[in-house]
Parts: sequence; C-alpha cells; structure tokens
Amino acid sequence: MSVPAAEMLKKSILVVAHPDDEVLWFSSIVEQVDQVLVCFLSSRTHPQWMDGRKKSLAAHPVKGISSLGLEQAGVFDGADWGNPQPCEYGMRMIREGEAQKKYLENHRCLLKQLSTRLQGYQNVITHNPWGEYGHEEHVQIYQTIKSLAASLSFDLWFSNYCSNRSYPLMLNYLRGFNSDYLSLPTNERLGEKAKTVYQENHCWTWYDDYIWFQQECFMKDWDVPEDSTTSPVYGHRFPLNFVRIDIGNEGRKSKKKRRKTSFWRRFLKKWE
Ligand SMILES: [Zn+2]
Repeated sequence: MSVPAAEMLKKSILVVAHPDDEVLWFSSIVEQVDQVLVCFLSSRTHPQWMDGRKKSLAAHPVKGISSLGLEQAGVFDGADWGNPQPCEYGMRMIREGEAQKKYLENHRCLLKQLSTRLQGYQNVITHNPWGEYGHEEHVQIYQTIKSLAASLSFDLWFSNYCSNRSYPLMLNYLRGFNSDYLSLPTNERLGEKAKTVYQENHCWTWYDDYIWFQQECFMKDWDVPEDSTTSPVYGHRFPLNFVRIDIGNEGRKSKKKRRKTSFWRRFLKKWE
C-alpha cells in the first residue's frame, strides 16, 4: 500500500530541530515542501555554531529556510535510551539541572511559536517519535507538534531513520505502523551540497563519510489505541533506514559506567 506524494506535500511545512537535519533525514522532500522551518540556531554548549549556522542557512542550496532562532538545551544523552520515557515535552531526563530546565523552557517556547507558525498548513512533516538516531530535541519537536495536530487540524508525518541507540523507543511505536507509507528517492546531490556548506562553516554535526540511503519513507502519524491487546495487529510493516552510530558498544551498560568512558564523551561533544 502506498500514499501519493501529492497528498503529503499539499500545503506542507517541514519542521526540523537543527540546521543540517533538513537534508540528513528529509532530502527527498526538502525542495518540495512549501516551507522549511529550523527551530534551534544557537547552542549553549557550542556557542561557535551560531555564526556558522546563520551563514550556512544564507548559503544553503535550498532557499528561504526560516528559523525560530531558539537555543539548544544541550540535553544530548540526558535521557536513558535503554529505558526511554517519552512525555509531553519530549523525553524525561535522568538528572535535573540547567540543561533540563532549558529543555522545559524550550518546550514552552516551541508550543507558543509553533501554534502560530503551523496555522493554515494541511501537512506538517517532522522528526519521528524516537528522534531518528536518538536525539532528545528531535523527540521534543515531534511531541510538541503532535500536541498541536488536533487543534490546528493538520496531518502529521514522520520519517523512517533509526539507530542502535533509538530502537528501544522505536519499538514502542510498532503498534502504530499501518503499512500505509510513502517511499521516495533521497536527493544525495542536494545533501552533499548542503553538507559542504555546513562543513565550510564548521557546523556539520554528522559523519563526514556518511553514505546516503537511496530511499527514505514517511508515515502519517496516528493515535495508537491505549489498549491494543484486545485487537492486536500483526504483519504491518514500515521500512527503517537503520544507521549504526558509535555508542561505544556500551548501550547496555549502566549510565555510570558509560560516563567514565572518555572516547564516548568525545563523540557526545560532537552531537550535543
Ligand atoms: Zn538534529
């Protein structure tokens, strides 16, 4: 079963958390939607990104990308991905602190700004509920937009990227897969062009030698029944673009032990 692309792209907006997400997970449609909106621009933990990101959006091969100009909270790896707890503002953090406070504040700002910015759109396309490779701010954007879908009467769509870090959370949504998805060819040429712009401005946050998928899929979000045990549905499918990311083979170790691993911490710095 497939969905025509025209259905998803009619009066559509793509909303992403960070600059470079628009090509990493949405290269097939980033030139087709009516508007592209990036939520975060500056970063508490990487202040040097601000300038580079502004320059990158100005020089981007896709013209007219707009931004909410919010500051990233620096919550990457703040959630327990082995036992993920999604909630109305994104994901529950393991510890309280400045980053968690900023994450909550960002949710309030996102809710306020998006409730205006998403008015009049028929289709909103954004991050998936498990945050692609597992980013707490991707999940926050999904949760915030989902909470607005009913009142603003738009259809919500998400992509099919996943990783060894985010798959436990993805499994929670298996019941919601209904085989009714859209598959489109990725735009590697565009992705590489944008990557070069971000690299020149020192704010490309993904692998330099990343090999693009040939296809990516989109699914319309729908509400999973609270109790699906009475009518379980099996055999439904939703292809995943699965990326193995470096979590130091420590995904199953305790948080405390993971914190002690120096090379893991170095990787974290790149994605915060
Ligand atoms: Zn991102």
